[in-house]
Amino acid sequence: MSGAPRVICFDLDDTLVSEADYVESGLRAVGTLLDRELPGPEPGARWLVERWRQTRARDLFQQLLARRGAEEARWLPRLVAAYRAHLPTLAPRPGAVEALGAILARGDRLALVSDGWLDVQRRKWEALALPFPFAPVVFTDERGRGFWKPHPWGFEQVMAAHPDAAGFVYVGDNPAKDFEAPAALGWATVLLAHEQNLYSPSSDAVALPSARNFAELVALTAAPLIPAAARCIRT
Ligand SMILES: [Mg+2]
Repeated sequence: MSGAPRVICFDLDDTLVSEADYVESGLRAVGTLLDRELPGPEPGARWLVERWRQTRARDLFQQLLARRGAEEARWLPRLVAAYRAHLPTLAPRPGAVEALGAILARGDRLALVSDGWLDVQRRKWEALALPFPFAPVVFTDERGRGFWKPHPWGFEQVMAAHPDAAGFVYVGDNPAKDFEAPAALGWATVLLAHEQNLYSPSSDAVALPSARNFAELVALTAAPLIPAAARCIRT
């Protein structure tokens, strides 16, 4: 290790954890609830998950209620609430734990900046139970919807917590909102373009420094990265 530590700051959804895993966890919770209160011909959890994998439909709850002859106006709000309130069953993406350990072992630090409804994000983070110090863990919704990315507030909290850092890197999956604020603050950025991500970056994101998996991410961030803003000026 050489020089002062850098802070490698992560996004949560579709970065450390697969958003598809969270969706399926929620669908299972909703299916189980409906089976208990309004049993049908097939297990609701399995039907919802299989249907989601096949179609990615946005109206799966409505479809399942129709199959069970249930009144949508009465049941849908309960299912949506159960989805948002469920305690997710989640695991870090393959390779994530090893990568985070390697980043710490070489002397760098970890942080998190994540958008999304506060209670949902807290439950996700607790379910992941990562065995490493992240400082700080910033859920932008702590300050409200107006402070979600690309607002710089979350990134400013990370900088304030590490006044001695040699540099900052943000790792995220969504170029449309993840990189604008950290780039403006002088950070480097890395696109984690995992094949399972729900969001597929458009082709104009190809020029971004990117990793397809956590092993590539560790290698890419081992060397100093050019701050994103400087890179934009150059091209
Ligand atoms: Mg994300």
